[in-house]
Amino acid sequence: MQALRLMDWKTEPELVEVPKPTPGPGQVVVKIGGAGACHSDLHLMHDFDAGMMPWQLPFTLGHENAGWVDSVGDGVSTVSEGDAVAVYGPWGCGKCQRCRHGVENYCENPAEAPVLSGGGGLGLDGGMAEYLLVPSARSLVRLPDGLEPATAAPLTDAGLTPYHAIRRSWPKMTPTSTVVVIGVGGLGHVALQLLKATTAARLIAVDNRTEALDLAARSGADHTVASDAETANAIRDLTGGRGADVMLDFVGSEATIELARTAARPLGDATIIGIAGGSVPFSFFSQPYEVSLQTTYWGSRHELIEVLELASRNLIHVETTTYSLDDALRAYHDLRDGKVRGRAVVVP
Ligand code: NAD
Ligand code: ZN
Ligand code: ZN
Repeated sequence: MQALRLMDWKTEPELVEVPKPTPGPGQVVVKIGGAGACHSDLHLMHDFDAGMMPWQLPFTLGHENAGWVDSVGDGVSTVSEGDAVAVYGPWGCGKCQRCRHGVENYCENPAEAPVLSGGGGLGLDGGMAEYLLVPSARSLVRLPDGLEPATAAPLTDAGLTPYHAIRRSWPKMTPTSTVVVIGVGGLGHVALQLLKATTAARLIAVDNRTEALDLAARSGADHTVASDAETANAIRDLTGGRGADVMLDFVGSEATIELARTAARPLGDATIIGIAGGSVPFSFFSQPYEVSLQTTYWGSRHELIEVLELASRNLIHVETTTYSLDDALRAYHDLRDGKVRGRAVVVP
């Protein structure tokens, strides 16, 4: 079968021929119906040096996957051939407290996981291929009625990651509050819809592309603001001088982290989800009083089930552009060049 594989650090992935996987005991092979192209893959192929991540190359990219069960190994009883499934992407040990709560993104026993701090497409073979080997059936969530794999694939990361970040700040997202989404690409446009579907907060979207601000308006933003030196002032103007209750940064550059923490209201949350590699000095006076500054990584299995539910009830809708597997590299080039509207999904 064909697979888009990262062969070396700081190189572009290559489409190569590899054997179709077969499932061992407890494992499942999924026929891929959709594999999303995440900006993290661009960081992976362009920014990361050898040794930065605890992973052996080569591996197949694609950590945002859904499809149909193709074959199951001995002992698998929770899914069967032909089932439409989403793949829960972080693959932990399955035994520690966090994993047993379905929070495999924060496995506390990574040495016993199939791969250290990753999953398919992040250290192990991912879904930019015709078939994906999933090491445990517990990583599969059956798709609710009305959801097709090509639509569901981006929900496993572009949906799940913002949902987790939003959910932890729900108590601060009251009807009198304001939430700011910085970066309205794959994750950001779903974040706005998730906020609209689950809160009554006022929403401000920030991006430096006009098309992204148009997408933000379609996705539920009440106000759109260009990303520049005046953005923090614009947010203060829109909030009567108070600042925003929750700032969600889907970029993670020095400028956006600085914006996230300084445009927050005292007692607010500033959550950094983007991994553009920015850093800012921290001190008592570097942000308004009692602003909580945190990062989040991916989400839990039960949160994925909730995101799929929201999509199956048409409360959220990922805007996608599809590419064939032959054309998967072009999906990444378009993402790099800011030409993708919503999420690029590779459909083999
Ligand atoms: P994307 O390329 O689809 O979207 C990024 C958006 O940010 C684009 O619309 C771009 O125009 C905008 N942008 C860039 N610089 C900006 C700036 N200075 N101000 C305002 N907007 C700006 O990317 P994506 O796939 O949505 O991923 C977003 C980020 O989240 C990436 O860094 C990715 O690696 C990271 N990510 C993190 C997690 C996690 O678990 N923490 C999971 C998935 C992705
Ligand atoms: Zn991702
Ligand atoms: Zn674990």
